[in-house]
Amino acid sequence: MHNFASILDYHLSQRPDAVVITQAKQRLTVRELHERVNRLAAGLAELGVGRGDVVGLLLYNRPEFLELLYAAGRLGAVFLPLNYRLSEEEWQYILGHAEARVLVTEPEFTRAADRIAANVPGLEHRIQVGGAATARPWTGYEELLARHPGARVEPVEAGPDDLQRLMYTSGTTARPKGVCITHGNVQAKNLAHIVHFGLTSADTTLVCGPLYHVGGLDMPALGVLYAGGSVVLQRKFDPEGVLHAIEEHGVTNVWLAPAMVNAVLQVPDRDSYDTASVRFVLGGGEKTPEPVLRRIMNAFPNAWFADAYGLTETVSGDTFLDRAHALTKLGSVGRPVPHTRVRIVDDTGKEVPAGELGEITLRGPKVFAGYWRDEKATAAALKDGWFHTGDIGHVDEDGFLHVDDRKKDMIVSGGENIATPEVERVLYEHPAVLEAAVVGLTHPRWGEVPRAFVVLRPETDAGAAELREFCRARLAKFKVPARIDFVAELPRTPSGKVLKRTLRDLPAEDRS
Ligand code: ATP
Repeated sequence: MHNFASILDYHLSQRPDAVVITQAKQRLTVRELHERVNRLAAGLAELGVGRGDVVGLLLYNRPEFLELLYAAGRLGAVFLPLNYRLSEEEWQYILGHAEARVLVTEPEFTRAADRIAANVPGLEHRIQVGGAATARPWTGYEELLARHPGARVEPVEAGPDDLQRLMYTSGTTARPKGVCITHGNVQAKNLAHIVHFGLTSADTTLVCGPLYHVGGLDMPALGVLYAGGSVVLQRKFDPEGVLHAIEEHGVTNVWLAPAMVNAVLQVPDRDSYDTASVRFVLGGGEKTPEPVLRRIMNAFPNAWFADAYGLTETVSGDTFLDRAHALTKLGSVGRPVPHTRVRIVDDTGKEVPAGELGEITLRGPKVFAGYWRDEKATAAALKDGWFHTGDIGHVDEDGFLHVDDRKKDMIVSGGENIATPEVERVLYEHPAVLEAAVVGLTHPRWGEVPRAFVVLRPETDAGAAELREFCRARLAKFKVPARIDFVAELPRTPSGKVLKRTLRDLPAEDRS
């Protein structure tokens, strides 16, 4: 039985009164969650939802998000979380492409949902969570649950290859693709993270990143729930709220993407919060610059920063930096989790020796089944069982993975490769720099030259000449940004990644 959703039955037998989900003043015990999930599953079944049907949801972080995840799982339906910061046109594209039958959303999005439903004929049901009473064609979420008191829906038999969810990539590079994640992928990921971090029922994860992304949902919230622990949900990321929640709930772990780390470090009275309960802070999603890594280690006295490498296509967390190497291997993303293999290959697919750069490829039970209705993209990504990530990295002599750059972000200048995070790391070392991102700028002579975008710390000042001078003292000449633009903020995806595509498209006159 690979149906991940059946884990709730086990925890009901073991710890029915344990609190499993907390949000603000709201608390759900295992018994309450189990009961609500079953009533919801019965309600969805009443609407005709069954095995293989796609259930879309457009929700902020809230308990109902997780209720839907387990209810869909029990029915063998496919869970499709939507990124709430996309445009209406993008939601429509995804819901249509995924052939969703149901959309569950909250009042903020019901108008958009009505317009979308008019253009997505297969979208038969709209369910509203929260807000005032609904009128047809809407069904109220609580009303649906109320129709099935005491219901019990047995989880369907699910094989390892059965689809559990569809997650559309955030489109940092192109039109979003639907990543097919199976029950087997989720099980393998949960168990790998449980083994690696020794997760138990004593663990509490703070979810402050969006649940629609693997960072929020899987790093390691679902694994913690699988182990019988609990989660604290923050509706939206709020840096002060992070520190407050850690203190109030004795949080033991939290995933913070680099931009989130920076925001938490900026909280003025950060030191007044008690963060001693945190045993590890998870990173990843983007390269966390080393100077920021050091600062975060100081902010959580008992924790190590477990930098991680992972993708939606592998349900997150393929490698983690372990506690023993947190300082000696700072800057590396660690070694693979159980059953995951990492291989660095050249353009012909041949493995390269330790220390040499190449494409990171991954293999193991966490690797996704392919892109939804996109054979071409699937064939390009999955070759002989190896997933080609599109990231450039190297494995050092001790077997630790280093992510150097995304293949498409790497700059080639006069035949020399420049890994953009290397230049960013140096910029971050300057005391006036809060954030930095480097992209390639086309150049008539060199092909490309590095161009930096910098956000300065409040009440500091540094000109382009000063920063270039600073880089010149620390980097080879060809790696020094040919141009530096100062911006108020960097464009980012909702999961906090810098949108380098947007930066590359910004005009620049000076190409000296
Ligand atoms: P796209 O939409 O282009 O497919 P995405 O950013 O939406 O990309 P995700 O699955 O969210 O896709 O992120 C995976 C990517 O994040 C990896 O391919 C890698 O480039 C980057 N990444 C993840 N962890 C790290 C890390 N620790 N250091 C550097 N980069 C990382």
